[in-house]
Amino acid sequence: MRSDTTFDQMELSDEMLAALANAGYESPTPVQAGLIPRALEGVDVMGQARTGTGKTAAFAIPILEGLRDGKIRGPQALVLVPTRELAVQVRDEFVKLADGQRARSVALYGGKPIRQQIEKLRGGVEVAIGTPGRVLDLMSRGALLLNDVDIIVLDEADRMLDIGFRPDIEKILRRAPTDRQTLLLSATIPPPVERLARRYMDAPEVLNFSPVEISGDTIDQYYFTVDGERKFDLLVALMSREQPKQAIIFCRTKRGVDKVHHRLARKLSEAECIHGDLAQNVRDRVMAAFRAGKVRYLVATDVVGRGIDVSGISHIINYDIPQFCDDYVHRVGRTGRMGSEGVAYTFVAPEEGNELTRIEIRINRLLERAEIDGFETVAKPTADASVLDEMGDGGDEAPPAKPPPFGRGGRGPRRYRRAL
Ligand code: ADP
Ligand code: MG
Repeated sequence: MRSDTTFDQMELSDEMLAALANAGYESPTPVQAGLIPRALEGVDVMGQARTGTGKTAAFAIPILEGLRDGKIRGPQALVLVPTRELAVQVRDEFVKLADGQRARSVALYGGKPIRQQIEKLRGGVEVAIGTPGRVLDLMSRGALLLNDVDIIVLDEADRMLDIGFRPDIEKILRRAPTDRQTLLLSATIPPPVERLARRYMDAPEVLNFSPVEISGDTIDQYYFTVDGERKFDLLVALMSREQPKQAIIFCRTKRGVDKVHHRLARKLSEAECIHGDLAQNVRDRVMAAFRAGKVRYLVATDVVGRGIDVSGISHIINYDIPQFCDDYVHRVGRTGRMGSEGVAYTFVAPEEGNELTRIEIRINRLLERAEIDGFETVAKPTADASVLDEMGDGGDEAPPAKPPPFGRGGRGPRRYRRAL
């Protein structure tokens, strides 16, 4: 996790060094050591580094160090993030690192009265962190002007540039000064996204701090083969065996989240749920309780799949296998942060062998089969070799950096036809 560089060698201000010491950041992580000096020089950077390795401070430090003095009212930096919860968390990191400096940060996100955010902007802020929808809304009301923006960050860049957000991102970028600096960060930047991103950047430097293993190396990763109707009982048995400090249980749909939460809350106390259909004040309350360690089991959609940093999360359960393999990387990356240990269990239905194989190819690592009494494997389906062909066709998903270590254990040429 540590790099050889120190914060002292980075020519940071005394205020910043004091804030870092206050935060307990003794030395920069690799992505911070690599990215901060380049960002301070004004270069556009695409930075890829594993989940939980301090990408937020990697962009927040150069932003705060580069703020101009004087009578500038509009924000000098704009950070775009995919979810409201992440906007709040990133704002809090800015506040922490701006300790002792006059740098005001605001989180701009939907589901909250817009008035307060407008007033905050009116009073003057240096850094705005927001979700694309609310940022556009504020821009169209004339409350948010991008004229003074020197630097734009797309955190979770691949998500921000996927089809759901791209039109909004393009609108925002078109209104920002063309001589701005642009930083893109994510744990996963597949080649098609990298190519696309270049359109919005000026001769970007690509810094990759996880060339081989994209998922956290301190996270033990297992799977269970389980019939759909037995998943819930397996979840209860697993939680009772594991006694997690805190767990996120990911389901594919909001309805699925509601159902699992409803059943789980009858069996276990300290269970809550979060998804995009809940009112924002409910989402805020659940997240605050989860951060405070008062919620032990959080049943969730991918709304908390990206970026969320809660140190108590010891277990990730993929109750439903994620639809896209990169979502697997991000979900699992909610544990094992900053070198701490974590464990992830993925529930795989007998017919989902191909999905599991795709994930393994993407992360360049095999998941280990887990066992628990009473849930012996019900069927032994195989993944077809065609999955491999799909992966190699240069489509939306990136091929692995090197062939996956499937040869381990002396499995022969049929190594991709695995029993689950
Ligand atoms: P990422 O965006 O890479 O997933 P985060 O920026 O959320 O990671 O940081 C993960 C955790 O590491 C946060 O709790 C953050 O406070 C902490 N952190 C960041 N930089 C350092 C550092 N240099 N030393 C110690 N802890 C750090
Ligand atoms: Mg992050």
